[in-house]
Amino acid sequence: MKKVAIIGAGSSGMACAYRLEQLGFEGRIDIFESKRGPLEANIHTGLIAEFINRPVKDTLVSLSEKYDLNINPASTIYHSINHGPTTVTEFFGFLGYVIFRGGHPESVTNQMIRQSKSNIHYGIKITLKDILSEYDSVVLATGNCEYVPELVNFRIDAHSAFHYAIVAEKNQEIDPTRFEAWFNTWYAPWGYAYLLPVPPKNAMAACTGVISKEHDPIKEGWERFKLEQVAGKYEILEEHHIRNFLLGRPDYQKVGKVYLTGANGGCNIPFFGFGQFKSLLSGIYAAEAIARGESYEAQMSTINNEYEKGLALFKRLHAYGDAGYDAIIRAASTRTAKNWVKPGGPEVLSWLGLLARLIDFSKESTDILTEDEEVSVVEHLDYSCTQGLADVNDLSEKRWSLER
Ligand SMILES: Cc1cc2nc3c(=O)[nH]c(=O)nc-3n(C[C@H](O)[C@H](O)[C@H](O)COP(=O)(O)OP(=O)(O)OC[C@H]3O[C@@H](n4cnc5c(N)ncnc54)[C@H](O)[C@@H]3O)c2cc1C
Repeated sequence: MKKVAIIGAGSSGMACAYRLEQLGFEGRIDIFESKRGPLEANIHTGLIAEFINRPVKDTLVSLSEKYDLNINPASTIYHSINHGPTTVTEFFGFLGYVIFRGGHPESVTNQMIRQSKSNIHYGIKITLKDILSEYDSVVLATGNCEYVPELVNFRIDAHSAFHYAIVAEKNQEIDPTRFEAWFNTWYAPWGYAYLLPVPPKNAMAACTGVISKEHDPIKEGWERFKLEQVAGKYEILEEHHIRNFLLGRPDYQKVGKVYLTGANGGCNIPFFGFGQFKSLLSGIYAAEAIARGESYEAQMSTINNEYEKGLALFKRLHAYGDAGYDAIIRAASTRTAKNWVKPGGPEVLSWLGLLARLIDFSKESTDILTEDEEVSVVEHLDYSCTQGLADVNDLSEKRWSLER
């Protein structure tokens, strides 16, 4: 009887467990989670933006219909306001879902934990080496790329920071169906700032974008954003800072009996850094590969393709600074662009990404990281401010040779 270990009870780990149970693995799955319980971690929200997940017509409905994985959103976004430095445009219609993240009882992860029958061992920060010999398959779903360099090269395309606050209404009403974004180098060079509802009454104000080892321009932008867009309108309840969010992907997503899912598998698509839906899919694909002997790499090829297109688009989108942001917001105000964003519209990310890749290959390169800024995953984890990361000083010596 085959046994499976899943390291990390997050998005991709729980989706994998749930699908494995459906495929007959109930009772043969061990999940190891470093948090002490499902409610530990800051409560905040995320956006599942529909237009970047096409051709899927409705992400949460598709998960329910295809895999009987039922995730209730925190709210649905029907209105978005997008600010350039001197321009603004609005979209109306079904644009995406707000989902709870972190320790909220209704977070995506906690909803899946309730639907799963597998045993979760909490408070155990397991290493890959600890368990590799005991299981037939191991799913590495730690969300932080921590053990990936032990197995395979992980290409980093950008290090990013995430500064956010949970805010309550003061002088400005919070609409649980509205998403607001700012594309402006003053707030976030190579990134963006946004306001996303945290239903029923609060919101999450955030600045995210590319940083280097020495310099975090997003933190400076965040201070300006707070001052100009947040402080007068909303009351800041709590503030958080993350500096270990990696955009990148591994050379291989299956190494011997180890499956890399979610962020470890390169599911955070560089265009906006969204990865929630793809991470859930990667967990499902890993389960199907384990249970049915299907090729995980083949299943992940669509996500890899979207990653590369998203990366090209990301480079194009941010390379021209404020003038570029204004041009894009102006273009987004046209009726054609508005029709693209509507439900059932074309695969925007795919087409624009393809175009951006063609331009990238034929014209000048717009690398996000300069040579000086390029550091390995190992160095990155070293300078990241997140607590609880393993000692990563000598990972290169620990790289194992595993059958691929
Ligand atoms: C602050 C933030 C905001 C985001 N917002 C959005 C958004 O709005 N929309 C969107 O689409 N995507 C968003 N993303 C990206 C999305 O969260 C990820 O794509 C997705 O959660 C990755 O899933 P995962 O399974 O790889 O990791 P996670 O969901 O992060 O799960 C990893 C789990 O592994 C556990 N763990 C880590 N190390 C160990 C260990 N050694 N042993 C045991 N357990 C361990 C962690 O505690 C965690 O529970 C956001 C990411 C961050 C960080």
